[in-house]
Amino acid sequence: MTERREPPARNDAWPPSAVIYDAETIAARVRALAAEIDAAYEAEDRLLVVGLLKGSFIFLADLVRALSMPVQVDFLVVSSYGDAKVSSGRVRLEYAARSSMEGRNVLLVEDIVDSGTTLEDVVPRLLGLGARSVEICTLLHKRLGGSRHEPRFVGFDAPNAFLVGYGLDHAEDFRQLPYIASL
Ligand code: 5GP
Ligand code: MG
Repeated sequence: MTERREPPARNDAWPPSAVIYDAETIAARVRALAAEIDAAYEAEDRLLVVGLLKGSFIFLADLVRALSMPVQVDFLVVSSYGDAKVSSGRVRLEYAARSSMEGRNVLLVEDIVDSGTTLEDVVPRLLGLGARSVEICTLLHKRLGGSRHEPRFVGFDAPNAFLVGYGLDHAEDFRQLPYIASL
């Protein structure tokens, strides 16, 4: 027997109209980021691209397809926001990558860096698992936190607004948008 489920209540307008980065702008920036990453590593570095789910899934998919160098891909699931628009300040690891980090050059792919709390937790975790190097590539950077782990590759300096789309959600809605909007 299948259980009947109501869709979740939605308070936000659909689709959101306050576009911050349109699809073409994002695509051009992702190609430029991929070129920067290609230039920063040698093919022998056997780069392991680790995406932080869920927010990075679209960005990572576009980014790795724009790279010329061979890479491997894995994921981590962490959560710090729940359904709220402000960080809870606590990071919970919900799924750990299966790949061995031992001796690997890791490129951690984030959707957006806000307070830096997530990186403060995840970067030492990866180094503790034996990664040789951990660099961070984030599509968006709010530059609020002054994190000890500054991203080396940054797509856009983002406004201090709550952004959705291109993988970013509010309470799991809006990830599918091909552009980034503010709520
Ligand atoms: P931090 O740990 O740096 O405070 O926050 C990083 C995480 O918070 C991001 O990976 C993302 O999941 C979430 N986050 C921060 N700012 C925003 C935002 O403007 N929109 C959305 N959708 N998520 C955000
Ligand atoms: Mg995230």
